[in-house]
Amino acid sequence: MVRYVFVGLFVCLAGYFAYFVSFGSSEVIKNPLNNRVKNMANIVVRGEIRDRNGVTIAHTETGEDGKEVRVYDFGSVFAHPVGYMSKGLTGIESLANLDLLSSHVGFIERLVNEVMERKNLGDNVYTTMDAGLQEFCYQALNGQKGAIVVNDPKTGEILAMVSTPGFDPNNLDAEWDSLTSEDNQDGNLLNRVTQGQYPPGSTFKILTALEYMREYPDTYQDFSYECDGVMEYGDLVLACHEGHAHGTVDFKGALAQSCNGAFATMGLSLDKEKWAQMCEDFGFNQELPVDLLYKQSSFVINNESTDWDVMQSAIGQGETMESPLHNLMITSTVANNGTMMVPYIIDHTENADGEVVSKNTPMEYRKPMTVEEAEILKEDMISVVAEGSGYRAASQYAQVAGKTGSAQYNSTGGMHAWFTGFAPAEDPEIAVTVIVEGGGSGGEVAAPIAGSIFDYYFGR
Ligand SMILES: [Zn+2]
Repeated sequence: MVRYVFVGLFVCLAGYFAYFVSFGSSEVIKNPLNNRVKNMANIVVRGEIRDRNGVTIAHTETGEDGKEVRVYDFGSVFAHPVGYMSKGLTGIESLANLDLLSSHVGFIERLVNEVMERKNLGDNVYTTMDAGLQEFCYQALNGQKGAIVVNDPKTGEILAMVSTPGFDPNNLDAEWDSLTSEDNQDGNLLNRVTQGQYPPGSTFKILTALEYMREYPDTYQDFSYECDGVMEYGDLVLACHEGHAHGTVDFKGALAQSCNGAFATMGLSLDKEKWAQMCEDFGFNQELPVDLLYKQSSFVINNESTDWDVMQSAIGQGETMESPLHNLMITSTVANNGTMMVPYIIDHTENADGEVVSKNTPMEYRKPMTVEEAEILKEDMISVVAEGSGYRAASQYAQVAGKTGSAQYNSTGGMHAWFTGFAPAEDPEIAVTVIVEGGGSGGEVAAPIAGSIFDYYFGR
């Protein structure tokens, strides 16, 4: 009798392992809602999503009736990066779906669960995110429309990713109709960090400056521009921020003061094709190495472009559009000595007993600038915060380098407020990009938010 039980068990287990092995096919990965994945959910309790220190962000509770409920421990704070699974799959719930529904608990435990007809515990996914920093960034936006993204520029690890207004994934079913209604103009379900498309405004001047340095390596340091607040070029008129006259600015001063006239003048002296090529090297008009849903950035300058297009593009306006994450990737390239890293949000996966099942490691994406170029831009970005438009981003704990932007998005003067930067400038540990939609001046609105994030991170 006992022998038959064991033979029966062995047959069960053999089928069971075959069942698991068959999940490895790429077809399953491409099609996360197919029946086999649904079947996995019948034998495994979906694993937890945790922050980089093990703090639980999402877990599954099983009621006495056996009904499972996915609980998001931080409500709307992690809504976009963690995503949801009740109305299709998004965010990490989608990226790590297969890991969360796989169980690597030990052989004996599986055997016991099989006999007891219990589900195995799924693997737990550790993100690169920092729950404390995420909460701080969420509060820092203070209900305004916008986005904040923070990474480690040396590794590409995403430490925080906030998009507001968002949603509470715990109430998603109840709120779904209003969130997706045509009357809702807030884009709550959109992850603005990766899917938002904004004119970069003056944050883009970092790349205009780089192209100018490349085309005029021997003379760029002699650059000088006399700013009276309004640049006139033939019939074309371009004002500096609020018509402010910057006086005489050199190359470094142009970036520190964010002088539109100086950058439009630099832009007009650039080779359009080389400039466009450089922007593509930084990821414009291209797919990006981002595994969350995202939108491509655009930079539209070619030999047909008019002088006005060139002047606008030199200051990050015109048809130039990018996401906050892409802006952060460019900023991080300066911080990381010219090497652009692949951004990533999942660090590793552990089984329910705490043993590591799989691990992601930092990956270099491109080297779109040299170490020397990065060093020069870094010095210029230090002066933006030390003595220029970004002084409100300064931190009491670390030297900050960065760039402000006040990006015009309509003809009636509406502006998005940007700040993008990193600290400590000499040996960067974090890079931060902030945008407040319709917030106005980047220096007045976005820079202080970034400054508070640096203070939090280095002061806690
Ligand atoms: Zn100016």
